[in-house]
Amino acid sequence: MGLNQPQPNRIGLFGGAFDPPHLAHRALAEAAIDQLQLDALHVLPTGDAWHKPRGLSAANHRLAMTQLAFADLAHAQVDPLEMQRTGPSYTVDSLAALRSRFPQASFFVVMGADQAANFTTWHRWTEIAQWAQLAVADRPLEQQAGSAPHEWHNPELTRCVHLRLPLIPLSATDIRSRCAKGLSLDDALSPAVIQYIQQNHLYTDQHDRSL
Ligand code: ATP
Repeated sequence: MGLNQPQPNRIGLFGGAFDPPHLAHRALAEAAIDQLQLDALHVLPTGDAWHKPRGLSAANHRLAMTQLAFADLAHAQVDPLEMQRTGPSYTVDSLAALRSRFPQASFFVVMGADQAANFTTWHRWTEIAQWAQLAVADRPLEQQAGSAPHEWHNPELTRCVHLRLPLIPLSATDIRSRCAKGLSLDDALSPAVIQYIQQNHLYTDQHDRSL
C-alpha cells in the first residue's frame, strides 16, 4: 500500500471453509460491513481446517467459489492468506499478520453462533479476544433449521458485538448433500457459484466422504 493511500481503520476477518460459500455467508458479511462500518472485510477461506472432521474440497475450488460469491460486495476482499500457509489455519495467525500490516486499525472477528459457542476451544483464543472484538450472528440449530438460535452466550466473551441477521437455515453440509441428489440450489447459492459447481462437477458423489 502506498504512503498516500488511506489506511483502513476498521477491519473485519471472516473465516470459513466456504465449501461452498452460500447466501448466509454473504448475508453475514453484508451485515458485518454495514453494522460494524468496516473499511475492509477480509474473507479468509481456510487452508487445512483443524476443527472440521471431514476432508475439504480442493483449496483452488473453494477460493474460486469464494471470489465469485463476494466479487461484487463493496469492502469485502477475499484473502488467500490462510491457504498460502502450510499446516493448520488458525485465526490468531491471520489476525497477527493483519495487525502487523495495519497496526492502527480496530479488528473484528465475524462468525455465526455455532462458532461462537465453541470459541474458547480455538487455538490461542484469549489473544484473539484481546486483540479483536467478536461479532456474532445468530444461526438456526442445524437439526431444527428455522427454529431457535444457537445458544452462544459464552460467559468468557466480554467484548462481543451481536450482529442483527435474520435466521437463515442454510449450511454447506446440507447444500453438498442436496447437490449430490441433483436438487435445486437456487435458494442457497449465487448463480455464479452454481455455474462453477456444475462446470467442475463438484459435490456429485453421494458416497464421497467429504459430504
Ligand atoms: P459446514 O456445513 O460445512 O460446516 P457452514 O455452512 O457452517 O459449513 P462455514 O464455511 O463453516 O459454513 O462457515 C463460515 C462462517 O459462517 C462460520 O462462522 C459460520 O458460523 C457462519 N455461518 C455459516 N452458515 C451460517 C448461517 N446459516 N447463519 C449464520 N452464520 C452462518
